[in-house]
Amino acid sequence: MRVETELKFDFDDVLIRPKRSTLTSRKDVDLYRTFKFRNGGSYHGIPVMAANMDGVGTLEVGETLESLGLFTCYKKNIDEADLINALGHCPGPRCEKPAQHAAITIGRNEQDYDKLERIHKKVSVANICIDVANGYSQSFVDFVKRVRDTYPHSNIFAGNVVTGEMVEELLLAGADVIKVGIGSGSVCTTRIKTGVGYPQFSCIAECADAAHGLDGHIIADGGCTTPGDVAKAFGAGADFVMLGSMLAGSTEGGGDKIEIDGKEYVEFYGMSSKKANEKHNGGLKGYRTSEGRRVAIPYKGSMQYIVQDILGGVRSACTYAGASKLKHLSKCATFIRCTKTHSKVYESNTLEI
Ligand code: 5GP
Repeated sequence: MRVETELKFDFDDVLIRPKRSTLTSRKDVDLYRTFKFRNGGSYHGIPVMAANMDGVGTLEVGETLESLGLFTCYKKNIDEADLINALGHCPGPRCEKPAQHAAITIGRNEQDYDKLERIHKKVSVANICIDVANGYSQSFVDFVKRVRDTYPHSNIFAGNVVTGEMVEELLLAGADVIKVGIGSGSVCTTRIKTGVGYPQFSCIAECADAAHGLDGHIIADGGCTTPGDVAKAFGAGADFVMLGSMLAGSTEGGGDKIEIDGKEYVEFYGMSSKKANEKHNGGLKGYRTSEGRRVAIPYKGSMQYIVQDILGGVRSACTYAGASKLKHLSKCATFIRCTKTHSKVYESNTLEI
């Protein structure tokens, strides 16, 4: 047994220190980024991603986010014909203009591999997200290698892991972008059920460092609850930030509406929850426990306003830190360790925010 005693931080443990700057307006901050991936592909857009979850990674969300310059990782259980149509933006036999602002998500089993093959026969898939709860197994590394060998021209996102050595291993196995975060998600109960996890802010900083050393990229996945957290994730070195609950509860996300005390809510749940297992996998298998919550999220309306709120916060953070482009935020940001990030005095009776 060994205990690592170096303190690791979460978003709530730090703040971005404001700095003198020559920027005049937050409207001039450029949030677009152009990435050249290590296997030859590229991405140009705002590097905020919808998580591959029910109520978030839907086709309707994808369409809206693409029009706003953002990215969507489609959830695993979308009807294949609809997915092909959305990825190709044309129903033809093989579309030469694959969607750049979306990824298909697969797990690491043979059915997923076959599904990818069937889809790729119809439309060349630009971005493949290989998503498993625990990216630390050799079989996962081998699966990433196999997908890379078969699809040399696709961008491969793989995860989730939380430490630099596994980021490097997955990049060397053929992935372009590594998804980092275990146990940090809003509807995730992994830390409670297993005792496993890694504070997300330190995870991002350490994994970004490892990835950038190999010309790789990372997606900071999970744990952002405010636009300020998204800014902190970028400041820590994230190339992309993936959001679940912050983008949930939108009109485009669908999901069952619930009324509580006259207020409208939308049902939202973790993809390892009992509900998700019942919906997609025929129930919780006898040897597993649920590792996700099912919650009620206040209905938020159109995705456009949700995105405006998030990007407005990130733009403002850039001006405080003296970064004219999002690209410069991690270089400009100095973080301070703190014990209190904001006042909570009116949290329970706020009228508007
Ligand atoms: P959020 O932005 O809501 O804090 O986190 C979203 C992320 O939580 C997802 O992208 C995914 O990595 C993770 N996640 C989603 N569902 C579950 C779940 O049921 N269990 C766990 N452990 N993580 C989940």
